[in-house]
Amino acid sequence: MNEKIPNVRTRFAPSPTGFVHIGNFRTALFSHLWAKHNNGTSILRIEDTDQNRKVEGSIEYLLRVMKQMGIEFDEGYYLKNDGSMAERGQLGPYMQSKRLGLYTKYAAELIEKGSAYYCYCSEQRLDDLRKEQTALKKPPMYDRHCYNMSSEEKEKMAAEFKTAGKNPVVRFLIPEGQTTIHDLIYGDITYEHKTLDDQVILKSDGFPTYHLAVVVDDHFMEITHVIRGDEWIPSTPKHLLIYKALGWEPTQFAHLPLILNPDKSKLSKRQGDVAVEDYLDKGYLPEALVNFVAFLGWNPKTEKEIFSLQELIADFELTNVNRAGAVLDINKLEWVNSSYIRTKSAKELVDLLIPYWEKFGVEIKKFKQDYLEAVTELEKERLKKLSEIGERTGYYFKQPEYETSLLTWKKSTPEDAKVKLTELSELLSGLDESKFTKADLEIAIKEFIAQKNYDNGSVLWPLRAALTGQEKSPGPFEVCATLALGLGKQEIINRLGIAIQKLT
Ligand code: GLU
Repeated sequence: MNEKIPNVRTRFAPSPTGFVHIGNFRTALFSHLWAKHNNGTSILRIEDTDQNRKVEGSIEYLLRVMKQMGIEFDEGYYLKNDGSMAERGQLGPYMQSKRLGLYTKYAAELIEKGSAYYCYCSEQRLDDLRKEQTALKKPPMYDRHCYNMSSEEKEKMAAEFKTAGKNPVVRFLIPEGQTTIHDLIYGDITYEHKTLDDQVILKSDGFPTYHLAVVVDDHFMEITHVIRGDEWIPSTPKHLLIYKALGWEPTQFAHLPLILNPDKSKLSKRQGDVAVEDYLDKGYLPEALVNFVAFLGWNPKTEKEIFSLQELIADFELTNVNRAGAVLDINKLEWVNSSYIRTKSAKELVDLLIPYWEKFGVEIKKFKQDYLEAVTELEKERLKKLSEIGERTGYYFKQPEYETSLLTWKKSTPEDAKVKLTELSELLSGLDESKFTKADLEIAIKEFIAQKNYDNGSVLWPLRAALTGQEKSPGPFEVCATLALGLGKQEIINRLGIAIQKLT
């Protein structure tokens, strides 16, 4: 077991642009796990500097998903029990739009130090420049036009902007040389500075861009480890240069591998396939999703596959995160989910299943709790996700619809099925309601089969089919006993009657 690192502080820094992508959730989870593994502090910071991309209500939405998933950050925004949003921690505010003064201060300091400069170029000029460079197959980069202007020209532009009531943007001046990232997962990656663009760090509306804001915030929030998706690797040398220019100690970086589809293509950004809330809606349990997502890039290097959040915290090491892309395999998720479903009591599951039954059209109020629990008990071994419950158990709530051919056992005939069902109906009609337990039914029906010298299948198949209308279901005795518990003996007789009718 590796040593704990003192005073670890990590942050999850989402932009409030709508739904929670499973990749973002993984970043949140890994940041949280690493902090908690080291008894450190995990922080949630809202990166809303791009006001155009901001989606109304998405912060509350994000916080709700995090809460549902059981991830509780120590600092930053959170949802109170009444559903309202609040902030905690000493190093806030934890929302970038509330920290604008800091960014302008450090943009000014960078200009002062000669590490940044004003840029007055129009959109048109930048656009033309980009087109020109693209035509020459060069990577589009700012040409330092404004940096290279004479002092007179600079003064003239500054005066013009002032009169027009406009502000120039501020660009970071990439120095000569090269920068090496010492990534905790990817190892050393070196960038030649001539490949890096003089990025805008402060926009004309006074908002910073991501690069400046992220460095200033990570510094003042005393972040020790930045854990984020590998799409941010190319931004990292820029961040390291800003740290250096400001004379600050940089954080450590750990970039997480891509998440891939089973065919190794890059995971889509489309909401339906990748939104955490859609997985929750489909009936994957939060604990199962956490467990599953933890394995998207990490593994414990043991055979163990089922981990609670606490167990993940105990075992999580950045050294066990892979560089290779992590495949998102829904079969694996279903397997993990069914393992969690099986560990829940029928009572707990009923609460979770009710919304899915209702969606399926079951008038749940008409049925008693012990019936719902009995149905759940029978099905929970086979359930891969909660949303399957309607399809699987519809026959417990209303008479099933099915093709007549379903009633005939493969080694038998419809005529034979009719005879068997008729005899069964007589047998069960004569049986006291109190005998409709799994054990008693099994005794009575098996005795009947033995007396008549019948094949088990020729009796049990049509019985089960008549009661469930399903190709596959739990066995006939338990289904019969459960149905009788909820709907009474008469319902059994009725269903056998319908089947006999169908066969006539
Ligand atoms: N706000 C960025 C995002 O939306 C965060 C990137 C980072 O973690 O530095 O993913």
